[in-house]
Amino acid sequence: MNEIIMAFQGEMVLKGLNRNTFESTLMKTLRRRLEHVGDFKVYKAQSTIYIEPKDEFADVETAFEKVNRIFGFAALCRAAVCEKDFDAICETAEEYMGQQLRGCRTFKVEARRADKHFPMKSPEISKELGAFLLRKHPHLRVNVKNPDTIVYVEIRDFGAYVHGPKQPGAGGLPVSTSGRALTMLSGGIDSPVAAWMMAKRGLSLHHIHFASPPYTSERAKLKVQSLGQLLADYTGGCNLYVVPYTKPQEYIRDNAPDVLFTVLMRRSMMRIARKIAEAISCEGIVTGESLAQVASQTLKALMCTDLAQDLPVLRPLIGMDKTEIVEIARKIGTFETSIMPYEDCCTIFTPPHPKTRPTMEEILAAEEKMPELAQLEQQAADEVEVIRLRVGELPPLAAEI
Ligand code: ATP
Ligand code: MG
Repeated sequence: MNEIIMAFQGEMVLKGLNRNTFESTLMKTLRRRLEHVGDFKVYKAQSTIYIEPKDEFADVETAFEKVNRIFGFAALCRAAVCEKDFDAICETAEEYMGQQLRGCRTFKVEARRADKHFPMKSPEISKELGAFLLRKHPHLRVNVKNPDTIVYVEIRDFGAYVHGPKQPGAGGLPVSTSGRALTMLSGGIDSPVAAWMMAKRGLSLHHIHFASPPYTSERAKLKVQSLGQLLADYTGGCNLYVVPYTKPQEYIRDNAPDVLFTVLMRRSMMRIARKIAEAISCEGIVTGESLAQVASQTLKALMCTDLAQDLPVLRPLIGMDKTEIVEIARKIGTFETSIMPYEDCCTIFTPPHPKTRPTMEEILAAEEKMPELAQLEQQAADEVEVIRLRVGELPPLAAEI
């Protein structure tokens, strides 16, 4: 029996003239993500994308998991393919769906005949195949309105396909069809979720992380690298830029009012992110900020942060509760890594009572008293370390989870 994957496009079918660009990007992404899984034939016909293993080493189960993480697909299913011959269809349906049917009490068959040369019409196929399966599984009853499962048969151009109910795909738009942005990736729960959400809207992403050794450890960096690696299944391969941030951070600590420390530091990070973004043609910055979650995420503080540089700052979590964010983190598989107990540079030197309503006047006055900050930021940007995150590689801390 030949098993394949069928994937169905989502929102992009609504794109008028641009649709071709979206489709070809999706196909390219699909081919690239499957390279590490095995040898697959990938092609499109009648708005469906077919993914067929070319040999016995191409693992359909793993491929299905990978395709399920590619943005742009509304739904997908695994299916058995056979000749367009009714007897072959019956045998295939029994072989492929028999075990599942044994665990059900009710079922129905839904047939669709796209190839009108096939001699039987759809209702006839449904009826006859239903009768065949009932003979094989006498405990079953047909229930048209609310069956336990549905056996689908599709007679298409290149063969007959038998499958169970489709499952929802990753949704969204193919990565890179909306441009490119830089995610500010901490080791926390929020920023990986923010990255996932923006990749879902078609952004191609690179990540930037600020490390402050010796206050932050090598393992904290590996944790962020692990998160980026986990995200690569969704974002595709990308770079993680690790900025050595100790000197600017100490300089702010030593030269600015305590209560403004966090906002000043976040502005400084934004300026450095802006420099890196420009060098790698990113048109926006993504953060995991959520309104009022902490002192640096009040409206006033966010305004001060935004005014540090001129790229749009995308904050997909802005209106979400922590519980909602955690739910997504679990779903996408980053949660367990995010809760590993390593320090982040944002949480060192933080004052006990940061100002929740900073004003631009006091921020600018404080920055004027730090004449060497711009140069320290430039040095940090110049010394950035680039780590390549490839699809299919294991996260460095995988063994510890
Ligand atoms: P997270 O759970 O993602 O760490 P958080 O709730 O802890 O977020 P903050 O520490 O205030 O919030 O950080 C807010 C956002 O700033 C993060 O979501 C992330 O986008 C960015 N950020 C924080 N620390 C760093 C860092 N060390 N490097 C890069 N970006 C960071
Ligand atoms: Mg954090």
